[in-house]
Amino acid sequence: GTTTVTAGMVDALVKTHAPLCMKNLHSTLTATGHLKHYGRLQYNLFLKELGLPVEEALVFWRRSFKHITDDKFNKEYRYNIRHGYGLEGRRMNYPAKSCARILTQDQPGPQDSHGCPFRHFSTTNLSSAMAQHYGLSPAEQSEILASVKQGHYHVACTRIFEITHQKQGVKKGQGLDGRGETVTHPNRYFESSWKLAQ
Ligand code: SF4
Repeated sequence: GTTTVTAGMVDALVKTHAPLCMKNLHSTLTATGHLKHYGRLQYNLFLKELGLPVEEALVFWRRSFKHITDDKFNKEYRYNIRHGYGLEGRRMNYPAKSCARILTQDQPGPQDSHGCPFRHFSTTNLSSAMAQHYGLSPAEQSEILASVKQGHYHVACTRIFEITHQKQGVKKGQGLDGRGETVTHPNRYFESSWKLAQ
């Protein structure tokens, strides 16, 4: 992980540094007090890999699931969160999902919030998500939507990284590392953004 993260730091870190897929999961969780199975899976592993320890993850998820009792939380969700950390069942150290896996596995249905917004959202929903989370100009939005139409989801995501880090000196074509690295993993996106802020 990048740093030692507490439950209370997640909101600001995700809003500042996370890619659109994780911002979307976070805002759905915050707004509804819930995430469905694959959304929890995708977000839990992302938070694990960015450095949220399991005790803090349990605090974060307990607080976020604001409409349920402790009893229901402990019975239905605690195990899965700990499982993601390799502390239950087969005790596998599951890696956070890469973009390739998010793009191709467990396709989201209409009620789901997981997946890659560039691939899985309608144009209307993608436009409003970009406006909500990044406040892109109409010209910037058209550029992103053109990449999406061609199926270049990682190009769209990388371009948003560049646009939203202009203040840190990132220029078009420089990508995550200043040398043109494109987005292949949500945690690499996060780490690159976090580094630029140090
Ligand atoms: Fe997330 Fe990858 Fe899609 Fe970007 S390209 S939104 S990091 S899944």
